[in-house]
Amino acid sequence: MVWGDEPKKRTSLSKTEWESIKARHKNRCCVCERTEKSVGILEKAHVKAHSRGGTQYFPLCPTCHTKYDKGLMNLTELKKLGLTKETYERLKPKKPVKKKITNPWF
Ligand SMILES: [Zn+2]
Repeated sequence: MVWGDEPKKRTSLSKTEWESIKARHKNRCCVCERTEKSVGILEKAHVKAHSRGGTQYFPLCPTCHTKYDKGLMNLTELKKLGLTKETYERLKPKKPVKKKITNPWF
């Protein structure tokens, strides 16, 4: 399973719950604080913040959500979600990057 790539039908969050989460965040993106009206839609960001007691949902605009899923959030933005850099590192999808230095002399 790839993190951030869950099938949509598996969501356990009811519409009412999602609405109340959005209301708690004043219908704004948690990161850039743009309103749902100005971005068109707020997306469910699935965050596993262990420091906050497990899985949580945050309203994020599509731009911030993409950024989050790609692991491009900076420290200030992470703080707004209650995440530390360490937690985020663990949550980020791991890329199988193999850096091999090829030495042309051998
Ligand atoms: Zn945003």
